Amino acid sequence: MLIFDGHCDTLSRINNPEDLIKNGFHWDLERAGRYGTYIQVLASFADDDLRARPEVVMASQLEKAIAFEDAYPDRLRLIRSASDLKAATMGGVYCILGAEGAEIFKGSLKELERWFQKGLRVVTLCWNYDNEVCDSVAGQRTHHGLSPFGLKVVKRMQELGMVIDLSHASDETFEDVLSCVNSPVAATHSNCRAICANPRNLTDAQIIQIARTGGVVGINFYGYFLTNTGKAQIKDIIIHIEHIAGLVGTGHIGLGCDFDGANPMPGGIMGVENLYLVLEALGKANYTDQDIRMIAGGNFMRLFTQVLK
Ligand SMILES: [Zn+2]
Repeated sequence: MLIFDGHCDTLSRINNPEDLIKNGFHWDLERAGRYGTYIQVLASFADDDLRARPEVVMASQLEKAIAFEDAYPDRLRLIRSASDLKAATMGGVYCILGAEGAEIFKGSLKELERWFQKGLRVVTLCWNYDNEVCDSVAGQRTHHGLSPFGLKVVKRMQELGMVIDLSHASDETFEDVLSCVNSPVAATHSNCRAICANPRNLTDAQIIQIARTGGVVGINFYGYFLTNTGKAQIKDIIIHIEHIAGLVGTGHIGLGCDFDGANPMPGGIMGVENLYLVLEALGKANYTDQDIRMIAGGNFMRLFTQVLK
């Protein structure tokens, strides 16, 4: 089965990109390789303690990954185009470069284009604070949504074929982006606010709006986004999937596990090696094989095929 995970922070955990092959964290190429075809968005990410120069930290993680791909093209295979995606379905592990925060563009469309040329294909517009592009759900409402520069960023990302990720965006940012996009958008790692009241999760109206673009919501495995107590089991992942399926059907649900970015994980999930348990649980909950294939990867595959050129 094709697995497509919309978000992990493993690049921010490891010291050297070779550690992507095998490590003690949530995700590595070796464990992902146990599944038939596995496509992973590798987000570059600067944690709180590295936030002095987040754009430098993220750039360094991406540069190292690209250098590793150059040196060992058979170990790290990066997807940059719709035809790369198609080739990936032949089997194996493939990755797509992401940035968790548009501050990597340093306020410049030239930088956006430079990163696109290098292979960056997914940009979470902001993380837990406002940046020059937009306001974060955890921010100060600096722009009351998308900034004028942010509007240009969103337009240019669509022209080039980059996936716009609304996880972490404030509700005002969300509205601004939805009112100006004409291609599918993703919330790569967000759950349902109706079930778990964390503001990082999406309202029902937002889920419906994402679906209307043809977009996908990647289910986040972080305990505090699954339940109000933070204690979660695999059944809680299924409850969020059920809720979205009830709103918009199974065609707009994906995986956004947040491996190496989220702790605690639900009971039984130690890392990517246990991901199959979620798919088994969907089977036990009477989802059809076709639905499970869509949730496991088919929906994100459709979105990325549509957005990437
Ligand atoms: Zn995140």
